[in-house]
This record gives sequence, C-alpha cells and structure tokens, in this order.
Amino acid sequence: MSERCLPGIMAEEDSPVVHFLPGRGYDSNIMVLDGERPVVVDTGTGTVFEHYCERIEKILEGRSVDRIVLTHRHFDHSGGAAAMARRLDAPVYVHEWAVDILRKGEGEMTGAWLFGATQEPVDAEPLEEGDEIDVGPVRYQVLSTPGHAPDSIALWHEPSRTLIPGDTVYAEGGIGRWDLKGGDYDQLVASRERLADLDADIRYPGHGPAVEGGAADHIRMGLKMVRMYGGG
Ligand SMILES: [Zn+2]
Repeated sequence: MSERCLPGIMAEEDSPVVHFLPGRGYDSNIMVLDGERPVVVDTGTGTVFEHYCERIEKILEGRSVDRIVLTHRHFDHSGGAAAMARRLDAPVYVHEWAVDILRKGEGEMTGAWLFGATQEPVDAEPLEEGDEIDVGPVRYQVLSTPGHAPDSIALWHEPSRTLIPGDTVYAEGGIGRWDLKGGDYDQLVASRERLADLDADIRYPGHGPAVEGGAADHIRMGLKMVRMYGGG
C-alpha cells in the first residue's frame, strides 16, 4: 500500500484517520493517528528519521504531535524514538516492561546489536493494559499482547474495528518471531487468539502492507500457521 495523506480530513469518534507510512529498509511502518492530539506509532531504526518527520509534518500541516507510542522496544521500531522525540518535541510511551531498557539504551535488549547500531536512550513513559490513547475525539485502547516480545502492545479502536498490532501479526497472517529475547511461543499464540477474537476489519501492522477489510481472516490464518509451525 502506498503512503496516504489526507490533509484536512479530521477524525470523528467512530471513524479514525490513520496515515500509514511504509517503513524503508529495516524500519518498521510508522502510523500517524490523526485527531485533535495526533499520535505517532513507532519510529523505525532512526536512519532516515528526517524523512519520516518531514512526512509527518506535512500531514499535520502545522499541528503538533502529542506523543509517540511504541508497539514494543525492538530497535527497528524504537531506534528512531529519541531523535524523533526531539525533532517533534513529543514524549515517548512504551509498555512498562520496556521503560528501563529504553531509558538505559540497552543495545542487547532492544536488538540494536543485530543491526550493528547503538540504541540511543529514550526518556520513555509507561503504558499498560487498559490504558487509553485519546487522540481526540478518537480513543484507542491499549492491549497487552506478549509473545513476540513481553512488552508488545496493540492499539484497538472498537467502533471502526481498527487494529494496530505491532509485530504480533502481519499481513496474510505472517508470523512475528518469538525467538528473540523475552519472546514466548505460548504467549504469542494466546495473544493472536485474543486479536483474532476482536474481529478486526482494518489492520496496520508493524511491517509489510496494511489490510483494509476482513483483517480478522488474516489473523485467523496466521493463528493456524503459528500453530502449524509450533513452538521452537
Ligand atoms: Zn519486533
């Protein structure tokens, strides 16, 4: 899916506006949840953070970013967080499990070393299950979905059945890894079952294309695949 910009279209409570910026190279996708208090979800590795910031600023047409939310701590999602937080003047939020790891900039626990990079410390604030991301007037629920990582979260907007699952499930049911530090196969299956039960219609995953319409079928397909490959 190509990058979409809908300047001037404001979100309503039951129909959120999500701008989807496909990740370049190893970067995660980046989403801008538009509204009165826009939120950026994930930041990529940071190599081309300027590119994303310019895109975000163009989309928001002078409105400022209220906060940056990370779907989990992995470097391909969090590597750009410190630089983007400075540039966009916005605080960063991540699941409470990963707050200290990001504050210390731990290269091993973020996986920065896999990319031959260093993790710049991020002054992160905690999120947990049940929190609400109020973009105004649209409100997303924070779901704790461990498995790919203990700190994996998904954002869920029930009225429009819009799901932002991070790396828990990709398009076509692709399987997020569970063999990285803190990953857990049984938790991943349980989290995928939970996401499948939501009956999502639209999904913006951490990597690869977005799914618009019938996203739940992809999630169920992915659940079958992850069960077929089994725990390792
Ligand atoms: Zn990841």
